[in-house]
Amino acid sequence: MRCNTIRCAHCDSSATIRTSRQMTPTCRELYFQCQNVECGHTFSAVLEVTRTIVPSQTPNPAVYIPMSPRKAQQPSQEAVSAPN
Ligand SMILES: [Zn+2]
Repeated sequence: MRCNTIRCAHCDSSATIRTSRQMTPTCRELYFQCQNVECGHTFSAVLEVTRTIVPSQTPNPAVYIPMSPRKAQQPSQEAVSAPN
């Protein structure tokens, strides 16, 4: 369950995901509730896929996720054709 929590910005207690909704293929909005009953902060956050670490073997042509800069600069990638 710990991977489904983040820290409440107000009281630093754990806040857990109550629900979520898919916004785009790479973006999901998550709704959190602080577990500190004296705080009660409920808030939303956005989870976005930002970089590719290892490319998909079944890529969706409608989806573009840039390569991680650190990975793209590594010269030892043999199976992956880097853009440069
Ligand atoms: Zn809180």
